[in-house]
Amino acid sequence: MQYQDCENVSTATAVQKDILHSGVQSKADKSPVTVADYGSQILVSLVLKMETPASTSFSMVAEEDSEELRKEGAEEILENITELVNETIVDDGTYSMYFSKEGILSAIDDGKSEGGPSGRHWVLDPIDGTKGFLRGDQYAIALALLDEGKVVLGVLACPNLSLGSIGNLNGSSSGDQVGALFSATIGCGAEVESLQGSPAQKISVCSIDDPVNASFFESYEGAHSMRDLTGSIAEKLGVQAPPVRIDSQAKYGALARGDGAIYLRFPHKGYREKIWDHAAGSIVVTEAGGVVTDASGNDLDFSKGRFLDLDTGIIATNKQLMPSLLKVVQEAIKEQNQAASPL
Ligand SMILES: [Mg+2]
Repeated sequence: MQYQDCENVSTATAVQKDILHSGVQSKADKSPVTVADYGSQILVSLVLKMETPASTSFSMVAEEDSEELRKEGAEEILENITELVNETIVDDGTYSMYFSKEGILSAIDDGKSEGGPSGRHWVLDPIDGTKGFLRGDQYAIALALLDEGKVVLGVLACPNLSLGSIGNLNGSSSGDQVGALFSATIGCGAEVESLQGSPAQKISVCSIDDPVNASFFESYEGAHSMRDLTGSIAEKLGVQAPPVRIDSQAKYGALARGDGAIYLRFPHKGYREKIWDHAAGSIVVTEAGGVVTDASGNDLDFSKGRFLDLDTGIIATNKQLMPSLLKVVQEAIKEQNQAASPL
């Protein structure tokens, strides 16, 4: 099977980048994010649809739908999205077309597919890490392709991530080129290139095998992570370095090129993981030689629809550290459960 869609993805990313920047520059309140979320989704889906042969069916599982935009009071934002999308298409010049407001609403709903175990489905988070986006920190545009329930292609555009290693810094290091585009195709490895365009470089996860030398990534937002649990896992493992907290799947990209050794994700109870939050990131890590599993050591299953439906968290690291990481994760979870319901 050929995955020539890679080129189209780059085009999409370029278009997205334009709209994201114009969105950020235009306003400082919450509305630009909404405009950017919807706009990014429409433009990515537009490019993918235009480049999909007419004989092939198009299916996309994406985060946003038009429900909120169809409500009373949403006229202004719909107007803004329509304007921004049409302007971006004209500026980009690849396609000659115009979206009406109704066309915008239906284009957003192109992302309503349920995915599943058969056929091919694009999986998109048009802006992953909304809070990071608002803060001017890390966020990502995350696109993956599912084929018969498996992720076969992933692209992560991280406009605020430095192209070089971030080391132990939160975000980009000064003087470095900013804007990294990670990509991975199943069986072909993972690469990073500059978002502005540069030759792609093969990447691989770090080769640290002693946790004492490891550092770990977790969510920037405390609400997204059980920090008592991740802290206890790190301590049991003997990790010395403080956690590196960054927003979005930029964490998967940073891990894949060896900026850190471990990624721990333990959302609070009741949270349901969505496939667009992990599909692109996980293939970038696995194709860079890493391992991504749930807290029981099972591979992530992207074939069940829009949700991953895991029991507990997600962990990612290299092959050397995974056995000891899994062991302490299970110990820490057991202790936490015992503390929560002492007999
Ligand atoms: Mg999002």
